[in-house]
Amino acid sequence: MAKPDPRPDSVALLEKLLAALASKGIVTEAEIAEKRAATERASPELGARMVARAWADPEFRARLLADGTAVAAEMGAMMKGNPPLGVLEDTPSLHHLVVCTLCSCYPRAVLGFPPHWYKSSAYRARAVRDPRGVLAEWGTVLPPGMSVRVVDSTADYRWLVLPMRPAGTEGWSEDQLTALLGADELVGVALPRVAQAAAA
Ligand code: FE
Repeated sequence: MAKPDPRPDSVALLEKLLAALASKGIVTEAEIAEKRAATERASPELGARMVARAWADPEFRARLLADGTAVAAEMGAMMKGNPPLGVLEDTPSLHHLVVCTLCSCYPRAVLGFPPHWYKSSAYRARAVRDPRGVLAEWGTVLPPGMSVRVVDSTADYRWLVLPMRPAGTEGWSEDQLTALLGADELVGVALPRVAQAAAA
């Protein structure tokens, strides 16, 4: 009798699926390894740099808003095989909040792995039902009159928020601006704050 496999069923199933895809020539082992390495390498710093550059360079900003996928690839993100990346521009009257209501779809190519709370059923449900309440728990209190647009990240489209550049950052370098931004700011649960960065 074969020895029982101690690993969870999901791992064995995944390995069989990968082997089947490889044997049919749909994807190679090397492509799988490359994709895995790219995902492990990705971190919010890349998304942060994209936003910081957009703050400083209007031409780059226009390109980023028009085609986030192309700009991310140009900056070293592994976009092959990923859904397109859309960029949501915050304005003085509109704030964006990103959620995957179904599971944990997240722009991993430019932000790395999603934070644990992003995958929680509480966040997924409440971001839609009570976005202002969720934001308030992060200490993000939006001025009255500012609308909140909740955007569903899906298997077809991933989203990155382009927050407004905070006041008091005139003349800052790209590195300084990048330091204002992390995953929270780039999915819209927090707003970039100058005091926060100065304290870090
Ligand atoms: Fe999902």
